[in-house]
Parts: sequence; structure tokens; C-alpha cells
Amino acid sequence: MPPPDRHLTARTARHPATEQLGAWVHLSSPVQRIAHDATGIEVVSPSLTVRAQRVIVATPPVPAGRITFDPPLPALYSHLPQRVVPGAIIRVHTVYPQPFWREQHLSGQTLAPRSPVPYGSALREPVGRIHWAGTESATLMHGLMEGAVRSGERAAQDILVALARARQTAGLPDRSP
Ligand SMILES: Cc1cc2nc3c(=O)[nH]c(=O)nc-3n(C[C@H](O)[C@H](O)[C@H](O)COP(=O)(O)OP(=O)(O)OC[C@H]3O[C@@H](n4cnc5c(N)ncnc54)[C@H](O)[C@@H]3O)c2cc1C
Repeated sequence: MPPPDRHLTARTARHPATEQLGAWVHLSSPVQRIAHDATGIEVVSPSLTVRAQRVIVATPPVPAGRITFDPPLPALYSHLPQRVVPGAIIRVHTVYPQPFWREQHLSGQTLAPRSPVPYGSALREPVGRIHWAGTESATLMHGLMEGAVRSGERAAQDILVALARARQTAGLPDRSP
């Protein structure tokens, strides 16, 4: 594990988790460039450069499109910022006398009317050592915080599997918990 000051994460709102991570989190340091090849990843922001085995890009597609990828991403990925644009939302609160949906074993949540499913594979499938997270890439609850959290867990799990495979290929002992 690299020392904390070598870590780069997204600009985030102030959150208890951010405070627990302390110096591992770098705010106001947007990623500008991600170079990737068979040996590793280099992530560059105005204030620091990080080398890693894998990276999770957890921004929505539009800001991800402002990052320079070297080499460039395949066409399906590079077109995403134009295709998956954020929409306007209207929030409506409805109140019912009884939570009738619970008897039907339903959550009471609704699904977004438009889904980025046609681009589903590009929103989730890693490109080499680059993994994708963020609510747009979620298979369930996309557009919501729940989807964002699930997508982060999925990307982290994918990386654990990929790293375990790489260790196995290299003949190193398995370090999975
Ligand atoms: C008005 C409004 C109300 C909402 N209400 C609810 C609600 O009640 N419940 C609910 O579940 N969801 C709600 N949502 C949706 C919810 O906010 C999103 O689903 C959720 O924030 C998505 O999380 P995310 O991590 O995918 O993306 P984001 O929250 O957009 O996080 C992406 C992060 O990436 C950072 N970033 C961008 N570019 C770079 C870069 N180059 N380098 C580093 N970092 C970068 C951004 O600064 C940002 O912090 C609401 C959304 C809006 C707009």
C-alpha cells in the first residue's frame, strides 16, 4: 500500500468517511490525465501524480470525458459523454395513509424512466486496468445514491478478483481475506 500522500481520490463533499481517511483523500485536485498500459496506471492531477495497479473512475460520464486517457479509450467509451448526458429532475413527494406496498414485499421505490442500459457494458466493463463506478454504471438503483454505492462495491470486488488472478499468474501466494 502506498503512503497516504500518494493517494488521489475524487473531490468529495465533507463526509465522516472523508475525515476517517484523512490524508488519503485529496480534494480540489481533479484528475486530468490517466495513462495506462500493461504494467500499470498513472493518474495525474494538478497537485500530484499517482501510480497504481488499477484505478476506479467514479465520475459521471460527462466529467470523465474531460479526462485525457493515454492511450485513448475505445470508441464506445469515448462517445459516452455525448450519449449519457445528465437530465433535469423534478422531485415529487407522495404520502399514503398506509405503506400498502410492503404487503406485496415491494420497497416503495420507483425506477428511473430513462436508463443508460444501451451503454451498460461500456459503463461497467473495465478497459484494461481502468474500472468504472458511479451511479450511471449501476445495474440497480442507477441515478440514486444506492446505485453509486453498489457500483463502487462492484468495481472494488472486480479489482480484488483481478489482483488475485494476477498474483496467481505470477505464482505469488493468494492474499485474499
Ligand atoms: C437535486 C438532487 C437531489 C437528489 N436527491 C437524491 C436522493 O434523495 N436520494 C438519492 O439516492 N439520490 C439523490 N440524488 C442523486 C444522487 O445525488 C446521485 O445518484 C449520486 O450523487 C451519484 O453519485 P456518484 O458517486 O455516482 O456521482 P457524483 O455524486 O456526481 O460524484 C462524482 C464525483 O466526481 C468528482 N469528479 C468529477 N470530475 C473529476 C475529476 N476529473 N477528478 C476527480 N474527481 C472528479 C465530482 O467532483 C464528484 O464529487 C439527487 C441528485 C440531485 C441532483
